[in-house]
Order: sequence, then structure tokens, then C-alpha cells
Amino acid sequence: MPKCKDAQLARMPSGAKFMNAPSLFSTFPRGIARIVLATMVVVPSVAQGQVEAPPKPDGSKPTLASIGPMPTARATITAADLKTHAMTLASDEYEGRLTGTAGQLKAAEYFRKHFESLGLEPWGDTVGGKRGYEQTYEVRATGLVPEQTGIFDAAGKRICEYGAWFVNTRKKQEVKVQGRLVWCGSTNPREMALQGAIAVCVMPESDREPRSTMAAFGEGFRLMAEVRAIAKNADAGGARGCILVSKELSVSFLSAANMSTSYPGKPQIARGRGRPMFGDQVPKVPTVAVDGKDAAALLKVLGIDGLSDWSDEQLVGKKSKAQVRIKAKPYSEDLDAKNIVAVLEGRDPKLKNELVVFSCHMDHLGLTANGGVFNGADDNASGSSTVLEIAEAFSKLEGDARPRRSIMFLAVSGEELGLWGSEHFASHPTWPIDKIVADINMDMLGRSTDKVPSDSVALTPTFRNKDYSTLARRAAELGASFDLKMTNGDKFYQRSDHWNFAKEGIPVVFFCDDEHADYHMPSDTPEKLEYDKIERIARLAFTIGYEVANDDARPKQIGKQEDWFSEGH
Ligand SMILES: [Zn+2]
Repeated sequence: MPKCKDAQLARMPSGAKFMNAPSLFSTFPRGIARIVLATMVVVPSVAQGQVEAPPKPDGSKPTLASIGPMPTARATITAADLKTHAMTLASDEYEGRLTGTAGQLKAAEYFRKHFESLGLEPWGDTVGGKRGYEQTYEVRATGLVPEQTGIFDAAGKRICEYGAWFVNTRKKQEVKVQGRLVWCGSTNPREMALQGAIAVCVMPESDREPRSTMAAFGEGFRLMAEVRAIAKNADAGGARGCILVSKELSVSFLSAANMSTSYPGKPQIARGRGRPMFGDQVPKVPTVAVDGKDAAALLKVLGIDGLSDWSDEQLVGKKSKAQVRIKAKPYSEDLDAKNIVAVLEGRDPKLKNELVVFSCHMDHLGLTANGGVFNGADDNASGSSTVLEIAEAFSKLEGDARPRRSIMFLAVSGEELGLWGSEHFASHPTWPIDKIVADINMDMLGRSTDKVPSDSVALTPTFRNKDYSTLARRAAELGASFDLKMTNGDKFYQRSDHWNFAKEGIPVVFFCDDEHADYHMPSDTPEKLEYDKIERIARLAFTIGYEVANDDARPKQIGKQEDWFSEGH
């Protein structure tokens, strides 16, 4: 689920009670506060996570067909296959799949190959008169050239491999400073004589265990602000540069740095040929935060053993014999981000012109500042594996078992950056938008919290939502047959790709879980996913899609209702 842009903010219900909480703006730089607010709003009218959709009032569980081509196809959706897909897409090889970068293009190729191997028709852009699986849209990457960015010794040999960089990437000229290192420890560098030197300071540590996603983000930005303050003091002390060392950079800090800075391997991505959202809130002196092996290597130049007590006052003022160079080379590059689009044509001569869409986003946050990866297993390798498996199941249906309406499998990018890929699809549809009868969207399916336990899935729109539809109602009805209770997911109604379909008046149903402790953290890794749960959700989604593709009538929005099962009009 994304961080997002002003446009989305404008659409938020005016009732959101957070908007005027001053403390929020004091915690986050204004730009960030907007994003964090965007990810947090929509005041649910009932506590999120209350398990609600018991079996039908009469307690009956809809009986599922168990014999025949459809159930046979459905049974091919397995936890084992879902795991294979998720473990692959969430592996380090895919580099956290940041939109437009090599990792995301690798994921796009994974989808394309899979859809092609299933014999599904390409339904992306037409290039040179030939339609392909890819639909592209423009983005611009602004970042730091890895080979020309780093901390080097005077001979040009690299001392540190990674780091969180605080340099202005909007300016094109190379940043280069050189000087002897001076150990400041936790002393305020403003009080030290640092003319012509590079200050080395202890990185501020997290002093609290964030209890929620919001708190984790807040803590990350608090640490970012502290880094800028220390660098400002180093500048006041006359330093040419500032390096902060940590035993291990906190995940809160890494998450905040990922959201608002560029570092080698992780550029900032802007829509179209735009400028990065952040980039000039940087200190006057080039500043880098490093940890682990990199911190130890740097301290070695200062003659300080990495394991020694960094609070030892005796060490303050210690100078390196050798000169050290901080270099950073900003760049910007125009790229094409990709959506992957495939279709299984319907068998009914008339209804095949109508389409049911299964969608997911394949992108995530990319690399961390200390050489790790935001693997994005739950967000959203889980939903991606579901669309891959559902596509395979549908490709097994032949002859009369083939659905009457056509089915599209849409894997988008740009979701984490503001639902860009699905917005591009909705504004440049490769299928007449008025012929799209439903969107079934999957994003974060593999984890459980006390609010969304293992026997439940969050669903939106619920019956409290003006866009409640016969599609969502059918999901609530069928849930019990897959041992799934529904929880109120309305908090997420504007926060994933179905939203760009809903805005077109298309009935949607969105399945997700919750903002668990690993949400948007490097710790969102595939071994933590509940593949049995994903299997049940995937089979439920497949079944709903199959029914909608065969029903005489199109699904429709029925507006707010008394409960899940009200007939509605
Ligand atoms: Zn997501």
C-alpha cells in the first residue's frame, strides 16, 4: 500500500480527524506529513478489524462445487506454488522492485513470461502495430551514481560500501570534499574546532520501540531531523563534511531514509519527467550515515577499534593521519515504468466484450541505505503470487468451462509511489473502460494481526461504504466456504490500485490484511507469510471472478446497506 500525492490527499473525506493535529506537522517535514496523513486517513465508522461476516444469518455455509472443470482448476491454486512465486519475487535478486529500476523490470519480465507460458493474450500497448504484454509510462529517476559516490581514502580506494546520504540531488554538479577525520563522538561538533576536517559523530539511536506503523515512521523522521541538526552543528564547527556512525541503523530510520532521500542503488522516482519530491532538505555540508562493517572500516582510519566504547571522552578530538574524501555524483535519468497486461478471451460472443480484472501491484521500495533490501514479501509479493496462480487456474479452463466474459490479469507498478500504474491504466485503458465490469484487487494477503487474525481477511468496500457492491457482498457470502471471516477494510479503500477503478464507477472488491509490524520495513520477508491463508483468499477471489464472468447480469454498486447481506437495490 502506498505513500501518495496531493491529488489523493484532496480526495480524502473532510471528516478525517487527524488533519489538524499540530503535533503531527511538528514531527514530520511538511512534505512527509502530507504523505503519512495520506496513508493514514479515512475514519472507519466501526473499529477496524472487528470480525464481522459470520456465516449467513441462517448459519449456512454456501456449498462449493467440488467436481468439474472449475473446482479442478481452482484446486491448482496451491500454497506451495504461491510460496514459489512469493519467495522468488521477494528475493534479494529482485532488489525490492522499486518502480522503473532493474528490480521492477525483472518482476515485470517474470509476469510476462508466466502469462505467455499460459497462452494468455498480450493486452498492453501496441508498438509498431503489434500488441505486447507491456504497458509503459514515463518516470524520472534522480539519484547518486553508485560508482562515483562514497567515502574514499586519499588514494581513491573505497572505505565504505553503503550509506544514507544527505546531499542535494537536484543540483547536477558533483559534491567532493576532503579532509582529515576528527572524532566528535556524541559531543556537539559546534563546540569543536573542525576547520577543514570531516566530523565523525555517533548516530542518534532510537530511544523507543515504535508501537505502530505511524510511530515507526515518526521515529524515523525524528532521527532524520537529528542527523540534519548534527550536520548543521558540524558545519558551524567549520567541518567540510559530516559522517555519522552506528552499530546498526534502525529500521525506522532506514524506512524514513527510503521514503525521502536518494542513496546509491535507490534513486527517487518522480512521475513523468518531474523532479523528485524531496531532495533539497539537506544540510550545507555533505553528510552520510553508515553502520556495521562500514562504520568499523571508517573508524579504523581514525585508529579507533570499531568495538570500543564510543562514549569514551578520551577519544573526542582524535584525528586521522590520512585524508579522507567524500564524493557524491547526482544524476537523473528518464525511464519507462511497466505494467504487465494479459487477457483470457471469453467464450460468449457478446459477453466476451465485457471484462473482469484481477489486479495487483508488483513494485515495492527498493534497497535499504545499508545494503539490505526491502523485500516486500507481504507488500506485495503475496498479492502478485495470487494473480499469477489465478491466471494459471483460468488458463486451465477449456471449451464450455471457459468463462463467458473475458478476464484480464493486470500487474501494475508505481503503486507505492501513488497508485501511478493503475492510474495510468485507468486513464489509458487498453480495453474500453465502460466494458470493465469488475476489479478484484489483491495487496498484502499473507500476514495476520489481532485485528485481522489468520481466519480472516480485510475486505473493502464494506456495507458501510457508498461503493458497496454485489461483488463485495458475494465475497462476504462465500468467505465462510473458504474458512475466511471478513474484517472491515474500509480504512484502505483509497490506498491501493482498485481505487482507480472505483473512481470510474466500476464495482471493486479489495482483499488485504493489516499494517503489521513489518509493514514497509526491511523485515517484510517471505518466510513470515501464511501461505495457507493466501491459498484460501486466492481461491475465494478466483471463485468470485469466475461467477462474475459467467453471470448474466454485471455486478453493480448498491450503496450503503444495513449489513453485509442486505439485498440492496
Ligand atoms: Zn502494497
